[in-house]
This record gives sequence, C-alpha cells and structure tokens, in this order.
Amino acid sequence: MGLTKKRSSGGRSKGGKGRSGMVQCSYCGAQVPRDKAKKVTRYTSLVDPRILNELKEMGARITRTKTTKYLCISCAVHRGVVNIRSKEERKLTRRRRSRRR
Ligand SMILES: [Zn+2]
Repeated sequence: MGLTKKRSSGGRSKGGKGRSGMVQCSYCGAQVPRDKAKKVTRYTSLVDPRILNELKEMGARITRTKTTKYLCISCAVHRGVVNIRSKEERKLTRRRRSRRR
C-alpha cells in the first residue's frame, strides 16, 4: 500500500467536478459513478433482422429505438467494450475509439 496510482484519473473522467451521480450497470446491477461507467448506445429495430435488408432495399422507413446502457468496468471488460491495456499502451493511446459491435 502506498500513494502510487495506477491511473491519474482513477479510471474516472470527472476532473474537479466533485461527486457525480450513480448509475446502475445493465448487466450486474452494480451502482457505479456516472463518469466511471461505460455508456453504450445502440440502435435497435423491432423488425425481424432476417427481413430487414429486404425492407431496406424496398426503401421502407425502419423505426429504430435508441437503447442506452451503462456498464460497470468489470462488465465492460468482460463483454469486450473496453480492453485491458498495458501501462505503456495506456500512455501511448489516450482515447481510442474502438468501434466494436
Ligand atoms: Zn456490471
């Protein structure tokens, strides 16, 4: 135990804002700070994906619903939303926008 820190931000993005609100992880239900949780927004349509392309070709307007999920770090890592990076890699790439799924 010491005063060494793994990350200067403590894995958060709040800066000097003080306390931030809590959100619930969509998978495990853990209460996590809003600035620490990973926000995943996905557009889903209620249309059967098998006929989706067909409908698109016909030029039909497909209603999409926006679903926003919050993931705690454990669940985000487990589901591949974020990846575990080495200390050096973290230094090299500050903010890597990975487009997965
Ligand atoms: Zn979780």
